[in-house]
Amino acid sequence: MTFIQFGDLMGWLGLDDTDSLDEGCTTYSLHLLLESLPDGITVQSPRLVRLWPFAQHRTRGNAAVAVELLTDDEHRLLEHLDSFWNQHLVPLKGKVSSSEHDTRNQSPADPGMVWFSSTRPDESYYTMSVQSEVRLDQVPPSDRSWGGHGKIGATAAVAWRQRDVTWESIAWRQPNRHGQKERQVCEQTLTLVDAMPSTFLSRDPRKGKGLVAPRGPCPVLFGLRARDEHSSREGAQLLLASESTESSIGFRTFVTNQASDDHLGENLEATVTEVEVLSRGNCVLTTTHGTWLAFAESGSIKKLAQWLLPGDVVEGNGLSPELGVLHLEKLRILAAVPRLERPLCEQCSVRMKSMGKNQGCRCPKCKHRTEDAWVSIPRLPPYDSWVQPPADARRHLARPLEWIE
Ligand SMILES: [Zn+2]
Repeated sequence: MTFIQFGDLMGWLGLDDTDSLDEGCTTYSLHLLLESLPDGITVQSPRLVRLWPFAQHRTRGNAAVAVELLTDDEHRLLEHLDSFWNQHLVPLKGKVSSSEHDTRNQSPADPGMVWFSSTRPDESYYTMSVQSEVRLDQVPPSDRSWGGHGKIGATAAVAWRQRDVTWESIAWRQPNRHGQKERQVCEQTLTLVDAMPSTFLSRDPRKGKGLVAPRGPCPVLFGLRARDEHSSREGAQLLLASESTESSIGFRTFVTNQASDDHLGENLEATVTEVEVLSRGNCVLTTTHGTWLAFAESGSIKKLAQWLLPGDVVEGNGLSPELGVLHLEKLRILAAVPRLERPLCEQCSVRMKSMGKNQGCRCPKCKHRTEDAWVSIPRLPPYDSWVQPPADARRHLARPLEWIE
């Protein structure tokens, strides 16, 4: 519990786009910055805010960070921020981060930092930044800013109003381990932590492997997600206390918009007009609401999409990186057209065959003939409610279906 002193100024600091190969991610930069603050500044919960995943100027995690700071000496704080910026963040400009599990091109880092004293940017700016591409000239003005492109995300992280929150405790590696890909996080303890009711996405039950440790060379040792702050913190402490976990310089518990579904608009209802299965199982649905893509990695979504027929009515949601194209993150079937087949022969129950257009049907076995006829057979869909991709193929922003009432 923080008691605010009379005369304290509350302000918001945002930071983004400091990802680089050696010095790693934005959470680490924020941690170093907070560790370096002069006395007399109260630090509230830091926030980790995921933004538009298709941003053209994109760095690794696509996450920006922000924190509320309380101080009675804003001038001294700003002087400190100036010096930290010049010493630690300016040198990151132009560096390129790399990540094994993400092969898309990454832009060189262009760090940005913003300071808002007392008044924060409007929430609508956050919504725009999580649901669409934002340009630097659309960023609301701050009381003080440093750097370039990173100001877009830094400002969005400040503007976020924390409607649906989860928590992530991030621990960082010792500096001599930075750049090494192998991480030691105690598997046994992780199994216990994963069993805590509030933690989520810490282990993949299908593959029996941990999901908390990143795979690239960044300074993060692990990130432990939970639906409440206490569990996230407690789980991180348990992991760090284990002898089988490598030593860490420390951890912080971030409040996040992960699993909020904030990136999604309203669900769309559409009728399927064409289904095309491409190589590797990627599936393209042409619908009355544009083109919907179900990617091979999307598991149940792909399976359901491949099962669809023209005429089926579906409901979907996802992101549109280009106009009229929806990358499915959720899908369900509302109504399936029946399959039409020729009737069975009354004599021997073998399916009859058409004799040609308007020529009637004939049983291939006993040659019994009838008028031209169809029977409609209901199709049983593989899933009767919403489906989403498996945990390890889901966006950080995606809300697990089991949380949605
Ligand atoms: Zn027959």
